[in-house]
Amino acid sequence: MSAYLTALAGAMTAVGVGAVAMGRSWPGTTGRHRAGDPAPTPLLRPVEALDRFEARCPVELRTTLHVRFRTGGVQCLDCRTTIIEGDRT
Ligand SMILES: [Zn+2]
Repeated sequence: MSAYLTALAGAMTAVGVGAVAMGRSWPGTTGRHRAGDPAPTPLLRPVEALDRFEARCPVELRTTLHVRFRTGGVQCLDCRTTIIEGDRT
């Protein structure tokens, strides 16, 4: 029984070594078939800020930096509170 198991283990080891040798010598990728560049992501619409100015924030009750968007909205840059809602068309 022990001799049978030893022979079986030896045979399985030989099969494993042969499989590894075949796998290593198998023609693999040469690097010429790599995936191309990933698909370009669609450009996000930039936040179009027209100008920055200091104004009194109604939430923080102090003078902070505000930004005026192209859509007409005004937002506090400290607490991100929208002071004037812009036209979102
Ligand atoms: Zn604020």
